[in-house]
Amino acid sequence: MSIHQYAMVMDLNKCIGCHTCTLACKKQWTDGDGMDYMYWNNVETHPGTGYPRGWHTLGGGFDEQRHLRPSILPARAEYGEALEYDYGQRLFNGKMKPVMPSKDPKYGPNWDEDVGGWDTSNPFFFYLPRICNHCTHPACLEACPRKAIYKRTEDGIVLIDQDRCRGYRYCIKACPYKKIYFNEVTGKSEKCIFCYPRLEKGKVNACAAQCPGRIRFVGILDDPESPVHKLVRKYNVALGLFPDKGTNPNVYYVPPFNPPKTGQYGRSILDDPRLPLGYLKYLFGPRVADVIAFLESELRQAQEGRKSEVLQLLIGRDDHVRYRIVPDLVRHDAPPDVQQRTNDKPAGPGLEKKGTLIKLAPASKEHSEFQTKDVNSIPAAVTAAFGTAIQAPLASLASSACTGCTLTSTCSGAEAGNAKTGFASPGGCPQWH
Ligand code: SF4
Ligand code: SF4
Repeated sequence: MSIHQYAMVMDLNKCIGCHTCTLACKKQWTDGDGMDYMYWNNVETHPGTGYPRGWHTLGGGFDEQRHLRPSILPARAEYGEALEYDYGQRLFNGKMKPVMPSKDPKYGPNWDEDVGGWDTSNPFFFYLPRICNHCTHPACLEACPRKAIYKRTEDGIVLIDQDRCRGYRYCIKACPYKKIYFNEVTGKSEKCIFCYPRLEKGKVNACAAQCPGRIRFVGILDDPESPVHKLVRKYNVALGLFPDKGTNPNVYYVPPFNPPKTGQYGRSILDDPRLPLGYLKYLFGPRVADVIAFLESELRQAQEGRKSEVLQLLIGRDDHVRYRIVPDLVRHDAPPDVQQRTNDKPAGPGLEKKGTLIKLAPASKEHSEFQTKDVNSIPAAVTAAFGTAIQAPLASLASSACTGCTLTSTCSGAEAGNAKTGFASPGGCPQWH
């Protein structure tokens, strides 16, 4: 648990599917080598398969006993690939043909854009923007045998220590939202960092800052003045995605109002909803019906000329209504050793490339604990979920000849050319560091 928790609320009634958020994130964080296919923020049409393809059917997260649920690693093809376009042909070589991608696309983010649920007289779909949920109980963190993933004590943001990550990808399997990506160039896993360098300077996340639909609300969940506290805790109109996955996501959604079908105008939006209520329950859990009923009653109240505080907040025309970024509060309540943190470098391109001064952030208490923890102790929950397969990378590094090595299985020695002999521990093994 963290002292504070930054959170985001997205009002799905206002998203116009323009992907400005996706591009804002891409330009800020994922334009480096090996990151072409990564969209830390993506926007997908629902009902739909999403990105990567079918992510919400792949398992992951925790079961009722808080054991990691099995899941599979999406194949690279399920993400699609970045496509090249030869603009020069049209702009400079006088060829008036349309600019087409260099090869036939097979899949990509928002592949099934605007398809949704098809019914000739009552078509329906809505957009679902997604980032890492910076979960209260991150399955990715639990699954990492290297303890490379940590949750910041002071604001709950989940990060990957790029120095510790070895690219085993158990985190990608374990995340039920499939919001971690593997960089084939660096051999590390990377994910959304909730724009923490911006928050530390009092600026809101890039995706929220650029959103023309003004659908995003950002603040500290436990700060009564923040819009996210009001929407999630006071009015109870914002719900986590797939609450049954057991990770307690900290990105919340105001569900689509869900208009009635053709010919049912004027009736309650729950009487004969165009979007099957079952699909909304699948995404947001059973409480979604209560939220829609409450929003409908607030709407009627406003239509009758009375004030609705929650609708006023959701309209959120001005920045100060939608965001409350409080770096001073976070800093003030942070444990003293946070100031000493030295190695929570964000995933993605180095900040110096962006013209920002590198100010190495201090390490949190839990982070320094990770540094000293025995990396060979595999959480029981991980073993339960993934079986003995998770032992394989560790076992391949173990050698009976390594003095003091705490790994029990034997190492073939071949991989390291017996160079490990004589090292005091796996911590000194060149394969580990
Ligand atoms: S959404 Fe996935 S990657 Fe993000 S904190 Fe939760 S489990 Fe980890
Ligand atoms: S920028 Fe805003 S309105 Fe546009 S797709 Fe993203 S969340 Fe939706």
